[in-house]
Amino acid sequence: MNTAVQQRIPISKPSITQLEINYVNDAITNGWGSHCYDYIIRFQKLFASYLKSDYALATSSCTGAIHLAFLSIGLQPGDEVICPDITWIASVAPITYIGAKPVFVDVKKDTWCIDPEKIEQAITSRTKAIMPVHLYGNVCEMDEIMAIAKKYNLFVIEDAAEALGSEYKGKKVGSIGDFGAFSFHGTKTMTTSEGGMLVTNNKTLFDEALIYNDHGRDHRNPKTFWMERIGYKYKISNLQAALGCAQVERLEDLVNKKREIFNSYKTLLNGLPGLSMNAEQEYVKNSYWMPTIIFDEPVNFNRENLFAQMKEHNIDSRPFFYPLSFLPMFETKKENTVSYGIYDRGINLPSYYDITQKEIEKVVNVIKSKVK
Ligand SMILES: *Cc1c(COP(=O)(O)O)cnc(C)c1O
Repeated sequence: MNTAVQQRIPISKPSITQLEINYVNDAITNGWGSHCYDYIIRFQKLFASYLKSDYALATSSCTGAIHLAFLSIGLQPGDEVICPDITWIASVAPITYIGAKPVFVDVKKDTWCIDPEKIEQAITSRTKAIMPVHLYGNVCEMDEIMAIAKKYNLFVIEDAAEALGSEYKGKKVGSIGDFGAFSFHGTKTMTTSEGGMLVTNNKTLFDEALIYNDHGRDHRNPKTFWMERIGYKYKISNLQAALGCAQVERLEDLVNKKREIFNSYKTLLNGLPGLSMNAEQEYVKNSYWMPTIIFDEPVNFNRENLFAQMKEHNIDSRPFFYPLSFLPMFETKKENTVSYGIYDRGINLPSYYDITQKEIEKVVNVIKSKVK
C-alpha cells in the first residue's frame, strides 16, 4: 500500500462499523418484494423520533428535500425567499428551479448564520419564506426568526444539512420551522452515501411533500396511476436507508465525537491571536460538523500559503464558502459586509470520526507555523 495515501488526513470520511454492514447486508439479501420499503419506513421513524418531529420523508438528497419543501409551501415563480449570503449552493438552487428568487441577507459575525436584524428590511410583498441555514453546525437565532415569520406570515424552511444534532434551547435544529432539511452525503455527520430527509410537524405540508415526491400521485386517491399534477421523484433506496438506520442508532456517538474533535482543536489553538472558531451561544448545543477557523483582518496570514503548506503535509482542508451573491448567476451584494469580509479568511479543518489526537496536533502545528 502507498504510505502517502495511508498518512493522508482527509477533511471527512464516514464511520462504518459492523452494524452498518449487517443492515446493508440484510437489505440487499432480504429487502425485496414485500420488504422493499422496510428499512425506509424504519429509517423515517427513527429519524423523526431523534428529532422529535411528527413526520419525516427520506429522500435521495438534501437538495431534493429542499426542493420538495418549497414546492409544498406553494412557492411560485417570482416569489422571494430570504436566505443567508453564506451557505452551500444547494440551499438556494431549488428556489431557482421554481423560478423564485433567493434574496441574500448578511450573516452575523459570531455565528456566520443569517442576521435576524437584517431580515425585516429585505421583506417585500413577494416574500414567501425565510430560510435559516445552520452553518458548519452553528445555530441560527430561531426565536427572532420565527417571530419575524409570524409577524409577516412567512414560512420557515430550516436547512439543517450541516447541523444534525445541534440544539437551540433544547430543541433539535430542523424541528423548529415549518420544514427542516438534512443531508446524508458522505461528508456529513451521518451518511447514507447520498441521501436526505425532510421533516415537519404539519400534516398538510407533509401530505403535499408526499405527492410532490411521487410524481404528483396522491396515495389517498383510490384510482391507480392517476396523477393530478406534475411531480418529482426524490426517493431514497432501501439499501441506503439500511445504512441510515445504523447511522441514526449511532448518532449520539457520532455527534459526541464531533464535539470532542472540535474541543481538541479549540484547546490546541487557544492563544492564537485574532482567531474565531464555530460559536456556541449559551442556549445552544453545537454539533460542530466542521471545525472552522477564521482569522481577523489584522492577522498576518496568507490563506493560499496555508493551504499549500497543508497539502504538503498531506492534510486536506477546505476554504470557507464564498458569498453566494458573489457567484456569476446572482447580483453582487457587497453591502453584505460581514459575508464579504470573512469568506476568504476562513478554513475548514479535518474532523472525521477516526481522526487521532496526534493527527489533530499535526494539523494545528501546520496552522501555528503559518500564522504569526
Ligand atoms: C450538503 C448540504 C446541502 C445539500 O445536501 P445534498 O444531500 O448534497 O443535496 C444543502 N445545504 C447545505 C448547507 C449543505 O451543506
